[in-house]
Amino acid sequence: MILTKAFAAFNSKSPLAPYSFERREPRPADVHVEILFCGVCHSDLHQVRDEWGGSMYPMVPGHEIVGRVLSVGSAVTRFKPGDLAAVGVIVDSCRTCSNCKRHLEQYCDEGAVGTYNAYERDGKTITQGGYATHIVTDERFVYRLSEKLDLAGAAPLLCAGITTYSPLRYAGVTKGTKVAVVGLGGLGHMGLKFAHAFGAEVTLVSSSPSKEADSKRLGAHNFLLSSDKNQMKKFSSYFDVVLNTVSANHDYAPYLKLLGMNGRMMVVGLPAEEPRVAPFDLLKNRRSITGSMIGGTVETQEMLDFCAERNIVADVEVIPMQQINEAYERMVKSDVRYRFVIDTASLKQ
Ligand code: NAP
Ligand code: ZN
Ligand code: ZN
Repeated sequence: MILTKAFAAFNSKSPLAPYSFERREPRPADVHVEILFCGVCHSDLHQVRDEWGGSMYPMVPGHEIVGRVLSVGSAVTRFKPGDLAAVGVIVDSCRTCSNCKRHLEQYCDEGAVGTYNAYERDGKTITQGGYATHIVTDERFVYRLSEKLDLAGAAPLLCAGITTYSPLRYAGVTKGTKVAVVGLGGLGHMGLKFAHAFGAEVTLVSSSPSKEADSKRLGAHNFLLSSDKNQMKKFSSYFDVVLNTVSANHDYAPYLKLLGMNGRMMVVGLPAEEPRVAPFDLLKNRRSITGSMIGGTVETQEMLDFCAERNIVADVEVIPMQQINEAYERMVKSDVRYRFVIDTASLKQ
């Protein structure tokens, strides 16, 4: 077994604290990765605090993982020791349902296996994530990473990156598409970068006036303060796509009103409470609301290759593991510029 040092949540109320556990020895299809950096996603915080229900403890969060391969099982073909490797939000799925066959494993009929806070397909073992020194993962759910990218900045691509890349691609965002990204946090700032890279006319809709300058630097052409009713009204029925990344409970109405003819709101933010939707807001302009969950294995690799080609990474604040609880407090206050990333060397001290 592989002794792994980590930080874990032991219940929904206490701060994260040091924890050691054992990873399995690599099976034939497994890749054993020494973790170098792990991003801090708002989903980590939702699950640590049991905001979605059903959290299991001790829980080692973290699903934005980059590192180097230490060893591989006998059947592994795409990795060798020393290679860079990345692991994202899911680590297994049934592989035989129609969604898995189309490499939409995140929508597996039997439920994809989350990187942490989930049962392995054996129904017994609980998965543990990337706030840790090592991970052992089946090759199908391990991605190749270019040596060209900044490693700390690349880690958030594994969740914040693919979660915004996939819906923007699915919505057919291209040159001239009018895209509004709601919320400038980890997901939102990647949404701005991708929408800009796809050639869209990009607007940030934010609750934080202080983020206007950064939004322009990150690729936005316009900035809309969501609390300014006049500005919001000026852009009513304007956008083709609204990418909603908001983590806190909120009303969909002001953002739906921004959508023009056949416009769609792509929902990726996952607040605990169910939103209220007024049918009149949907009927106007034949608007729709679509959810989107991370991305499948093929699209995740495509996104990483796209980022390597364009040198796209997240804007990160690198922290030692020991600062995770302060980072969570700042995340709740929308004070992230724009992703915390843990340097796991701090776990080895
Ligand atoms: P984050 O870094 O904390 O960013 C969330 C942003 O939402 C904040 O920076 C803030 O931006 C905005 N916001 C916060 N409270 C708000 C409020 N009351 N009203 C309006 N806007 C508010 O979070 P994240 O890591 O990007 O994650 C965002 C959400 O996506 C989370 O709920 C997470 O669980 C979910 N998620 C979903 C998937 C998926 O597969 N669909 C994957 C990953 C994460 P401004 O300051 O600009 O307003
Ligand atoms: Zn995430
Ligand atoms: Zn499946």
